[in-house]
Amino acid sequence: MTEKLEAVLKEDRVFEPPESFRRSARLSDPAQYEALYRQSLDDPEAFWGRVASELHWFKPWERVLEWEAPNARWFVGGRTNLAYNALDRHLAARRTKAAIVFEGEPGDSQVLTYHDLHREVSKFANVLKGLGVKAGDRVTIYLPMIPEAAVAMLACARIGAIHSVVFGGFSASALADRIKDAQASVLITADGGYRRGSVVPLKNNADEALADAPGIQSVVVVRRTGEDISMQPGRDHWYHELMQNASDVCPAEPLDAEHPLFILYTSGSTGKPKGVMHTTGGYQTYVYLTAQYVFDLQEQDTYFCTADVGWVTGHSYVVYGPLLNGATTVMYEGAPNWPDPGRIWQVIDKYGVSVLYTAPTAIRAFMKAGEQWPLKARLESLRLLGTVGEPINPEAWVWYYNVIGKGRCPVVDTWWQTETGGIMITTLPGVHPMKPGHAGKPFFGVEPAIVDASGQPVSNPDEGGHLIIRRPWPSMLRTVWGDPQRYFNQYWSQYPGNYFTGDGARRDADGYYLIMGRVDDVLNVSGHRLGTMEVESALVSHPAVAESAVVGKPDPVKGESIVAFVTLKAGRAGSDALKGELKAHVAKVIGAIARPDEIRFTDALPKTRSGKIMRRLLRQIAAGETDIKGDTSTLEDRAVVEKLKAGE
Ligand code: ATP
Ligand code: MG
Repeated sequence: MTEKLEAVLKEDRVFEPPESFRRSARLSDPAQYEALYRQSLDDPEAFWGRVASELHWFKPWERVLEWEAPNARWFVGGRTNLAYNALDRHLAARRTKAAIVFEGEPGDSQVLTYHDLHREVSKFANVLKGLGVKAGDRVTIYLPMIPEAAVAMLACARIGAIHSVVFGGFSASALADRIKDAQASVLITADGGYRRGSVVPLKNNADEALADAPGIQSVVVVRRTGEDISMQPGRDHWYHELMQNASDVCPAEPLDAEHPLFILYTSGSTGKPKGVMHTTGGYQTYVYLTAQYVFDLQEQDTYFCTADVGWVTGHSYVVYGPLLNGATTVMYEGAPNWPDPGRIWQVIDKYGVSVLYTAPTAIRAFMKAGEQWPLKARLESLRLLGTVGEPINPEAWVWYYNVIGKGRCPVVDTWWQTETGGIMITTLPGVHPMKPGHAGKPFFGVEPAIVDASGQPVSNPDEGGHLIIRRPWPSMLRTVWGDPQRYFNQYWSQYPGNYFTGDGARRDADGYYLIMGRVDDVLNVSGHRLGTMEVESALVSHPAVAESAVVGKPDPVKGESIVAFVTLKAGRAGSDALKGELKAHVAKVIGAIARPDEIRFTDALPKTRSGKIMRRLLRQIAAGETDIKGDTSTLEDRAVVEKLKAGE
């Protein structure tokens, strides 16, 4: 039996790339995209070889690709260094250009030019060497969103140490687990970090973690908040003291193209986080090109991605992608809505941000707060908007486009994963018409397909199925750290020779992909298999609804009934009448099969710390289970789950 995922959302609004944008875009001709895309599939070695040769190689590669599923080696035999490509390569032409513009939550700011960043990274690379760190050693980074986080990452890359960044919002035990899994020997942290007006006690958390993770021999502590902390003699060192005596000369190590660059643990939306491992040559090539084309990066841009460096978006599109392109990247320390929901818009005006990249969860929160906040800002420097992390509901897309972009900025809805290293499916901003809710077209070199459970491609446009990738791409993960069996089982066992994404999707007649949600979250109602995104989007299209998550609940008759958790916009109150209205609204928008059986109003939904809805927890709550099973180490706020369990 081949189970089909049904497509139910109807969304036919189409937005052409604004003419004012197209005129100066890097790529504005659809035929040019088609030709490049075709070349990237017909002759990937020529295509990627050409891109990679725009970067610096100490020794040229012998072969662009060696592929025997599930193992890919890119730029075989080549030697390169990502920090060299992100810094040294720019010194001639961009020495005094801003590399990092930093805004702290309290309002302090700092600008590091390429010269400054090159110096700081060289010094810190020498500090690491002085602590005995060698190529291949693991360094855990547990820092707030401050420039030192980028400095630490680039310093590791410079000497070939493998960094493992752990989001600064994680608890001591989540940190300890990640340190132990990676077998790290050095930890970089700070006394504290600012978040929502208070101080996150990073060093105290680290001390607690280290009691359980004794492999760490040295701790480097950045002074950020001036907290009173304890320093263990012999083990703990102040960053500023070590930096004072460090030499600023540290040549970049010529590393093998397949030398590991970093380990990063996934968000844990669907289960226990996986230590995804990326390597050097292919990753740098792919993030360089995607950042350039998807964000249309140009010399005068000020680029701002709101992701934390603790997530892959922070790795690829706060730090590495922009710097590989010689761009100016803005780092913001705190919450985008602190001290009020206007903060992010003020930051954009303050620095003249031209490209903004954020997440649907943030956009829905801004919508919920109301448009009076962005209306207080000018936002006239913006020319391009992006989103990543979850499917964006068409209503939220249109709000972003109109209220933030004023109809003048294209929106790129970028689908990708920690595992893919870089953006895989998106429209290109000067080229493709945009369809809200649809991520769009494959990026160069990416060959997606939609298949049924038996691996057969679906036969019709708009038919749902599993999203797979048919061939390797340069920034593909190479393994799950320490667990090659999990690497194989998770990604390569389901559809041999193809990468399985774990997401459900459909493709329309124009070749646009729409991500329907996680395969693990699919609803099965009276034999109909529905993705979560479409039902949730129908709910969000009701004027009272801010956000929604739908899950299945076992039902003796239908197999599963649909339970919808709903948060309302500011000033709206839940009532039985509204429940009835919302059920009817969904039935009207997408049809009776998707009509929720139950609506539950709530103040907040359980999310990962990166802002993704954790439906697996809601499924258990809907089923009335009292003990929540599965990994909850990445859950943002445990109180949300307790409230939902109590039926509040
Ligand atoms: P885990 O793999 O541990 O369950 P996770 O999948 O949430 O966690 P990430 O790698 O951070 O970890 O997220 C990738 C996932 O995010 C994708 O598989 C997809 O489900 C979702 N996603 C990201 N961007 C988009 C987008 N533009 N549209 C739809 N879904 C997206
Ligand atoms: Mg995942």
